[in-house]
Amino acid sequence: MIEHRFRQSWLNTFLACPEQARTIRNGTAIDVAGSKMVRGTAVHAAIETALTARMAGHEMTVDDILEAFHWSWDSLVGTIEKWNKGATTAEATVELAETMVRTWCAEVFPYLNPVGVEKSFEFVLYEDEGRRISLYGTRDLDEDNLTWDWKTGEHDADWLVRRNDLQSMIYTLARAHERGDLESQQPFRYCYLTNGEVEVIDVTRTSQDWAALVPMCNSIADLIEAKLPSWPLRYDGWKCSDDWCPNWAACRGKHLGVGSKPANW
Ligand code: SF4
Repeated sequence: MIEHRFRQSWLNTFLACPEQARTIRNGTAIDVAGSKMVRGTAVHAAIETALTARMAGHEMTVDDILEAFHWSWDSLVGTIEKWNKGATTAEATVELAETMVRTWCAEVFPYLNPVGVEKSFEFVLYEDEGRRISLYGTRDLDEDNLTWDWKTGEHDADWLVRRNDLQSMIYTLARAHERGDLESQQPFRYCYLTNGEVEVIDVTRTSQDWAALVPMCNSIADLIEAKLPSWPLRYDGWKCSDDWCPNWAACRGKHLGVGSKPANW
């Protein structure tokens, strides 16, 4: 029996570029922390603290939640090795992050009824005599009838998210497994704080979305088991750049250069 365990975020990387996913999987692509990623982690930590406190019966103030953000940011800022476009200094990065936290506190937090915060899951998607595929990840927030995810980055067009987004398919299927109901459709909500404003994208996932995960994940398992020296290179994704791909220097960067943008970009 060959066991495959796919983390949801790795599957997203695979869809963005299979070769990037392969090199992350085998450890040859070493990612370094960027300012936007660290900002997102610290904003998530503040939100998690506030929601966990509410579940325990304690209400945090906006100042408490901002303090939780700063505690996380201060502990992580030293790990930043890349200052991304739009977050090129600590001051600018923190200023927008504080706006995200304040906006979330004012417009989202008052209305939430958490039943699960940062809940890890793992379930078996597919199994036959020779192969088992499990999916795992961590959900930001469960309400009784809605799963939430906080985002601090850019997103595709709404219709593309509704049609193709993988994270919502996997997270809702995890909840369906936990409920023992693989037939009823499940709602999922993205809450984007990217520009310091709240933007919501609601998605509904059905048993058809979940069934379609099986051939997709089996095709990835086929690729892994084939033990190929490389997987398809995806040059047309926006993450195919020195800023965003940890495999750039060993891949497209060998031809286009490392450390500065190609002249014609
Ligand atoms: S440089 Fe581009 S094609 Fe190569 S692994 Fe990275 S994203 Fe994929």
